[in-house]
Amino acid sequence: MTDAIALEGVSKRYGDEALGLSALSDIDLSVPHGQFLSVMGASGSGKSTLLNLIAGLDRPSSGRVFVHGQDVGQLSDDARSDLRLHEIGFVFQSFNLFPNFTVEENIVWPLKFLRVSWKEAQRRAAVTLEQVGIETTALERRPGELSGGEQQRVAIARALVTEPRLLLADEPTGNLDSRTGQAVLDLLLELNRERRLTVLLVTHSTFAATYGHRTVEIQDGRIVNDVHASDSQGRIVPIGR
Ligand code: ADP
Ligand code: MG
Repeated sequence: MTDAIALEGVSKRYGDEALGLSALSDIDLSVPHGQFLSVMGASGSGKSTLLNLIAGLDRPSSGRVFVHGQDVGQLSDDARSDLRLHEIGFVFQSFNLFPNFTVEENIVWPLKFLRVSWKEAQRRAAVTLEQVGIETTALERRPGELSGGEQQRVAIARALVTEPRLLLADEPTGNLDSRTGQAVLDLLLELNRERRLTVLLVTHSTFAATYGHRTVEIQDGRIVNDVHASDSQGRIVPIGR
């Protein structure tokens, strides 16, 4: 079966292609469907660059990025937008909700591009909001009236409302206190288990990383460690490179 994500010899240089420093160097990575992968690394190590390449928000300088078997670099701009819209949910550290929109308007936002009717969009917003553990009475509120943890749940609902198979989360607990952060991680784990959603979680936290089936560590744009946790006993088994 095709992997959810496959990177083959991916490098990314910003600025001058010849002189620019490499944000990512020769990355090979396969992520099977349904895997919960944690990506760890210091600030500036290339984690967000990796997510942006997978989401097709940027193109690699060399190498190929596949999402559900589609070569993202070869797609037209429209096809890449379509892939993002249908297959990928993206969650950020700073939530990135529209502050002047209600919770409902935030969640239905991506559905506008799918030409879903307003009534159906409203129905899906309510269902999705409940799935992330927030009562539908919050639909008419604005993000500023919610706690940080609730805002991140709304952002997750917005990411999920299109029913993607892949969720990319860039330090989603970075702005949350540890207890609220843990609840958000529990939610990601539940979504991974119950929907077989492939999750790629970027985190600074070794605790957060333990939610993954596997942890990949990036240093200066290279993968320096790739460790699987065995499901049965939760043992960490280094696979080596
Ligand atoms: P992380 O998310 O791990 O903190 P990033 O992927 O954001 O790291 O950045 C990796 C490296 O690439 C850093 O040295 C950063 O300064 C550089 N970088 C990231 N985005 C850009 C950009 N748009 N233009 C130039 N350099 C960038
Ligand atoms: Mg980053």
